[in-house]
Amino acid sequence: MSDLVRDLRAAVGAETVITDPEVMAGYAHDEAEWAPFGGPVAVVRPHESEQVARVVRACVEHGVPVVARGAGTGLSGAANSGRGWVVVSFERMNRVLGVDPVQQSATVQPGVVNDDLRERVARDGLWYPPDPASAPWSTIGGNVATNAGGLCCVKYGVTRDYVLGMEVVTGTGQVVRLGRTTAKGVTGYDLTGLMVGSEGTLGLVTEVTLRLVPLRRGVEHTVVGYFDSLADAGRAVASVSAAGVVPSAMELIDRFCLRAVDEWKNMGLSAEGEVLLLARSDLPGQSGQEEADRILACFEGQGAVYAVRSTDEEEAQALFEARRLAYPALERLGPLLTEDVCVPKARVPRMLEAIEEVARRFDTHIGNIAHAGDGNLHPLFIVPAGDEAAKKRAEQAFEVIVDEALALGGTVTGEHGVGLLKMRGAAEELGPQVVGMHRAIKAALDPHGVLNPGKVFV
Ligand SMILES: Cc1cc2nc3c(=O)[nH]c(=O)nc-3n(C[C@H](O)[C@H](O)[C@H](O)COP(=O)(O)OP(=O)(O)OC[C@H]3O[C@@H](n4cnc5c(N)ncnc54)[C@H](O)[C@@H]3O)c2cc1C
Repeated sequence: MSDLVRDLRAAVGAETVITDPEVMAGYAHDEAEWAPFGGPVAVVRPHESEQVARVVRACVEHGVPVVARGAGTGLSGAANSGRGWVVVSFERMNRVLGVDPVQQSATVQPGVVNDDLRERVARDGLWYPPDPASAPWSTIGGNVATNAGGLCCVKYGVTRDYVLGMEVVTGTGQVVRLGRTTAKGVTGYDLTGLMVGSEGTLGLVTEVTLRLVPLRRGVEHTVVGYFDSLADAGRAVASVSAAGVVPSAMELIDRFCLRAVDEWKNMGLSAEGEVLLLARSDLPGQSGQEEADRILACFEGQGAVYAVRSTDEEEAQALFEARRLAYPALERLGPLLTEDVCVPKARVPRMLEAIEEVARRFDTHIGNIAHAGDGNLHPLFIVPAGDEAAKKRAEQAFEVIVDEALALGGTVTGEHGVGLLKMRGAAEELGPQVVGMHRAIKAALDPHGVLNPGKVFV
């Protein structure tokens, strides 16, 4: 047994520390299967913040890196362990500590699953909007650390917009509270905001206070539009935005992905065109219908081959479910590399054209899903298992798409984070001075460099 493992056991109790290599293999990496990882020396599953702090202090003492882990659904390699690292899994810190209906907030441990929180607060007539497609599995800690987006974020904002305050274990193993629980508050720097999206490189989040909003009630109106090409669908997205309409969701899924879901789940989905755009309005009463009609007019005006305001809520739900299931459906077909670029809305058609060009140029298969209303596109590279040449082409195409997005004024990652997969693009996007600021902040909060080092930037 290594000295570190002995000290970890003494610090947090032997039953909290896993060292069985077979069990640890399940904690070594996230869902970004092309990102590198190494086997951890120990996986620790703490029950409380003080245990997390003791783990970090032991890691500092032994000079061993520590990586936080939620559900491991990340798509950038950010939760990947390096060889000989310690993984802190938050699976046992999964309690909703309190819901305050007056303040409209909830305080939770980081291991609470996104959908479980939404279900819990609904009992108090409240709603937590950020809804990544991974909501049935991903955790609030992971969502905070990646600043996760989701389907309804086009109207309601991303995780950052809902985080009021948090408890964090710093890189020196101190437990600190950041932010506030009040509706307003501007005391000091916004260190809470800094932690959101920091991918476990600045602190381990051990408690979060989230802003909630009143639960939506009433009917939602769904508009379904099929298009012959990605670019046509992209023009429809830009047209909705230019018309000043803010749908409560606007998602894209192409025929290939739709078929993959159907073959897996037998949902009886039929595709009336190459690309499906799904939009929703949740405005109450007559205004919801009117908004849906405006979206429909935009779809028709941009050459939809078939567009309709759905009257069949079951069918509409099935299509949104298909959109959520697209990633796991494609994962079954072979190794998958996921893009996450985000471009200004007016440039969505151009970016989608570029994706088609890149697929042709690199002779690589790309399926497409997108939080289209945000301009956040997820081209998915599917490669036959074991075909190393195809993998290489896909990797090159991945980087070209990153460059195209930057050239269009976009960003290399809309929601999945930089992790390991987007480090080159992130360095380009940020530039040396801003990367220098990142280094200075990291050195201040993690002076021993033990928190998820070598991720996001170097
Ligand atoms: C099918 C599928 C659909 C997806 N859809 C979306 C989507 O719509 N929108 C979206 O944004 N993402 C999506 N993702 C990506 C992923 O679900 C998100 O990034 C999610 O926020 C990760 O949560 P997690 O609990 O799995 O975190 P993990 O993958 O375990 O970790 C992610 C990062 O957070 C850090 N971390 C985790 N917990 C803590 C903590 N307590 N303190 C500090 N750091 C921590 C980790 O170190 C790592 O850097 C999807 C993934 C899948 C597989």
